[in-house]
Amino acid sequence: MVGMEYEISVGMECHAELLTESKMFCGCRNEFGGEPNTRTCPVCLGLPGSLPVFNQKAVEHVLRTALALNCDISMHTIFHRKNYFYPDLPKGYQVSQYGNTPIGVDGFLEIERPDGTLKKIRITRVHLEEDTGKSIHSEGLGYSVMDYNRSGVPLMEIVTAFPPDITSPEEARAYAEALRSVLLYLGVSDGRMEQGSLRAEPNPSVRPKGSETYGVKTELKNLNSFRSVQRGVEYEAKRHVAEIEAGRAVVQATYGWDDEKGVSVLQRLKEVEQEYRYFPEPDLIPIDFEAGYVQEMRATIPELPVPRKHRLMEQYGLPAADATQIVAERALADFYEASAKGSKDPKAVANWLLGDLSRLANAANTAAYASPISAQNLAGLVGVIADGTITGKIGKQVIETMFSSGKPAADVIKDQGLTISGADEVVAMVDRVVAANPDVVEKIKAGNDKSKAFLVGQVMKEAKGRARPDDVNRLLEEALSRL
Ligand code: ZN
Ligand code: MN
Repeated sequence: MVGMEYEISVGMECHAELLTESKMFCGCRNEFGGEPNTRTCPVCLGLPGSLPVFNQKAVEHVLRTALALNCDISMHTIFHRKNYFYPDLPKGYQVSQYGNTPIGVDGFLEIERPDGTLKKIRITRVHLEEDTGKSIHSEGLGYSVMDYNRSGVPLMEIVTAFPPDITSPEEARAYAEALRSVLLYLGVSDGRMEQGSLRAEPNPSVRPKGSETYGVKTELKNLNSFRSVQRGVEYEAKRHVAEIEAGRAVVQATYGWDDEKGVSVLQRLKEVEQEYRYFPEPDLIPIDFEAGYVQEMRATIPELPVPRKHRLMEQYGLPAADATQIVAERALADFYEASAKGSKDPKAVANWLLGDLSRLANAANTAAYASPISAQNLAGLVGVIADGTITGKIGKQVIETMFSSGKPAADVIKDQGLTISGADEVVAMVDRVVAANPDVVEKIKAGNDKSKAFLVGQVMKEAKGRARPDDVNRLLEEALSRL
């Protein structure tokens, strides 16, 4: 059926490691990396006789995420054992939430389409579980070794609803981006895809346009960036279409994404759904939320990125692209607002923040909101440019010194003598340039206005950017009229 049009559907399963001091059921530190097997104990190693104890912070993180994702909350929720045998799972089962009472059910996340309109992506469940250890396959060894530092780290799973609302690779990426920024706003995860603390696993399928039956889906793993989410889904969807058009069936399986080669690699076939023999975890008591507690948690949900973006556009007149960048991180948006509130030119504040300040911060391996330039000092810089004390060009020089010294713009300008106080200095420069270019002055007198620009340029050059073109133009007119 070559030439037929296809529709893409993408379900998304995302896992996020939660930001807690300790692991889900023991006191071991929850931290990325470290010497292998240095953060383990009988509980997270699954030794017989050890008993789990809840991490309340992890429950709180999942509850707040569920609320932020517009979910209904299961006021009574229990944990299950998901049994399977794999070396990274020392107990032989993962503690997870199965069935119809995960902490959050039936919510949604809004993503933005390229034209700026919003689309709701329905979410069926948000639940709490624990992470596994890591198998390290070293070819040189000829066998695998295990690192259990990650074993028992609190993990949240967020699953989109069926039938899928995501219908393109771009939307799959937008969903992952939107979800990550919600998690960062809530402070529940650091969302580092490259470190695996946020893992997005799309399930793409294709079907002929208009068909009511969904195609066979495959699952994609090892997507370490938003870009690979988009590329991976794009690749898989094309591969499905190619299979169908070649008269073959798409086989349900798990694929790993190879970002360097830009291809998906078959990991394992999923011919039958694995039998996990779920049953309620007997070592943990159920959780019963009190209504007051849920209300209390609801009150901690901050304004989320998408609504905040639209408010920033309205309140400060920001273009959509700038607002998108600013709300991507809550700390950046807070910094921007702290600066913009004290400025008459909030658009210029955004330009300096996303331009020079971000560039300097990147080069210094820090964030723009955590740099030596305070929100107040950024507003100060924009202020001295707006009132004509210095030009924007000099501003670029000033911000460098502000960044290295932490001083306010006014001090830097004073220290380095960057402002041309009074017009006297500029007047003298104009006079010098006029005197040095009698031939050009003749041309201007003969009616060649273009030659004025040459003289202005000469003065600007001499002022090394410290003079404002408007002032130079005006003073030049005055000088010429005196001749
Ligand atoms: Zn432990
Ligand atoms: Mn899971």
